[in-house]
Amino acid sequence: QGMLRGRDSSAKRPQASSVRGAFIPPFVKKALDGPAENDTDGPLSAKTLQLLAGPDGELPGALQKLDPRTVEMVCSEILDGRSSVQWDDIAGQDQAKRLVQELVVWPMLNPHLFMGARAPPKGLLLFGPPGTGKTLIGKAIAANISATFFSISASSLTSKWIGDGEHEASRRLKTEMLIQMDGCDPSAADRRVLLVGATNRPEELDEAARRRMPKQLYIPLPCAAARAAMLERQLGPASGVRTALSPGDVAKIVEKTAGYSGSDMRALVQEACQGPVRDAVAQHAHKLADLSEADLRPLVLRDFQVAARAQRASVEACEIVRYEEYDAKHGARY
Ligand code: ADP
Repeated sequence: QGMLRGRDSSAKRPQASSVRGAFIPPFVKKALDGPAENDTDGPLSAKTLQLLAGPDGELPGALQKLDPRTVEMVCSEILDGRSSVQWDDIAGQDQAKRLVQELVVWPMLNPHLFMGARAPPKGLLLFGPPGTGKTLIGKAIAANISATFFSISASSLTSKWIGDGEHEASRRLKTEMLIQMDGCDPSAADRRVLLVGATNRPEELDEAARRRMPKQLYIPLPCAAARAAMLERQLGPASGVRTALSPGDVAKIVEKTAGYSGSDMRALVQEACQGPVRDAVAQHAHKLADLSEADLRPLVLRDFQVAARAQRASVEACEIVRYEEYDAKHGARY
């Protein structure tokens, strides 16, 4: 899902173009194959032009040959290094966070120290149920190193640009991406490219993908302490939400949410927060537009009990067994 490339990289590969640190993967064009509808001189957005134009204000020759739609697409997938997610924003996952920092962040910050025997793995795969923080980890990596971060998801490429359900096209895209990645030598200090993949279907990866991402890290559902931290963050003083939850209430919510993912927890809190609003609207329907936080009663345990009926755990227990089996077989031990 994510791909990192050091800003100082200037790889001279025959098929890829690197322009002022921005990597334009030609696989996208190649994989889409065939003549695009407007592969002549469709206009690029001002943002893309600003990103790619040389000192003369012109688009470099190599890029002019590409389908403008493709160029737009790749540029729209670049998340800049100022992504604001910090490690502390990610609740739980302590071991994974530590390992990711050692494997990814340290070598990016000091490549000379991490050569030879200390060379980092070519790629890293984060796997686990949906909504557990894999994407957040990718963003935290981007925020912590000076790298151009491409967050490329096959589904976003296929649904936005090719049309839904085009599995074949998406498969070709991924294959071509892996081929291109293999063409980069990650041990060369000026060509630091790291592939960070994230998936909730690790067993569907083919052998080529597995080879390219030799370290596979299980990102499981949040433990009780992590769920408590999520509640604290979402309902703490900074949230502006008034609550009347005792520590015992919080403990009950944490206990009842075993099996919830991080995104389930977020949805549950949002749903619970609607409780006081619904009550206020029922009482003051005539002045809804004037209601402010001060008019709302504080959030209570009952709001969570009601919300939990609407927002259940999205991951089935049997799926967890599958992830654990996969982890036992392929997961990195740490
Ligand atoms: P995925 O594992 O599917 O990539 P995301 O990282 O996109 O999941 O998480 C989706 C949302 O769920 C996040 O934006 C965040 O609000 C919440 N979330 C998931 N995991 C965590 C976590 N460990 N800590 C804090 N928030 C989380």
